Amino acid sequence: MSVLVVGSLNMDLVVTMKRFPKSGETVTAEDLTLVPGGKGLNQAVAAARLVSNVSFFGAVGTDGYADTLQAALIDAGADISYLQKVVGSSGVALIEVEESGNNRISIVPGANKEFVFDQSLLQKVKDSNYSVLLAPLENPILEVEESFRVAKEAGMTTILNPAPYQHLNSKFLSLVDILIPNQHEASLMTGSIISNKEEAIPAARKLLSAGHKSVIITLGKEGAVFVSEAEVLFQEAFKVDTVDTTAAGDVFCAAFAAQISLGASNKVALKFASAAAAISTTKLGASISAPTHQAVDTYLKRFE
Ligand code: ADP
Repeated sequence: MSVLVVGSLNMDLVVTMKRFPKSGETVTAEDLTLVPGGKGLNQAVAAARLVSNVSFFGAVGTDGYADTLQAALIDAGADISYLQKVVGSSGVALIEVEESGNNRISIVPGANKEFVFDQSLLQKVKDSNYSVLLAPLENPILEVEESFRVAKEAGMTTILNPAPYQHLNSKFLSLVDILIPNQHEASLMTGSIISNKEEAIPAARKLLSAGHKSVIITLGKEGAVFVSEAEVLFQEAFKVDTVDTTAAGDVFCAAFAAQISLGASNKVALKFASAAAAISTTKLGASISAPTHQAVDTYLKRFE
């Protein structure tokens, strides 16, 4: 049983500085750190730390960043034999962080916007026994939709993390088994304010009536709700010493997908994903903070 992630890869260039330059001004920054990121890469790396069979479909450029992005996926154990190479730049995110903690981010999609769900990928899905598809929305939406169509045809469970939020047509919606927005994306999708479980449950019901089969709304340190026709579940966030919440949502989605691929119930998967995401907030960084299966199991044993 295995997980297929279709998504983006970005080299995150994290520049720290005392304060942002004003328009036309030059400031000397303090430090530059290069971190492999992008929601697709983060989710694939996190999933590959949790289950053994994870494949990744996406596109990198022909620049120097491509090797580092590929190495991050290979090191985590993801199969990238079908990664597309596009002449030009890989995806890049310029993340500027001020001493005050404020940040601003510019994303250059680069190769991500050239990703095509082509015949070879379709054939690969037909020839494989992937059980779960997980995708965020940083590649061209028509290509993501095509991956969902192919996955449904192959009998897979499909999970969409609608981030960054874009309007989804009803044909696409009908291909999504489990939708996992965070509270901000769910607010944009429903027009409701969502900051706690009392507000999240009716919002998730609204999304169900729009055609989704199951909806999970993540609420940061307020936890997460799962709503389907048959079940309403709430999982509190685990109390941990949080250092950095970057990519908590990516780790959550990856861990939920990994659990579903192993045949876990929604309740067990929700608890496991919440624990994995909480653990990831105790370390600095995005995908590098994702825990292994053993680390999550050991953590959860404390509560038995
Ligand atoms: P995103 O990163 O997409 O904004 P959230 O912030 O909602 O997503 O986080 C996803 C999940 O990660 C939450 O539902 C929760 O389980 C876990 N999580 C996030 N922040 C914390 C935190 N400070 N402490 C414990 N768990 C957290």
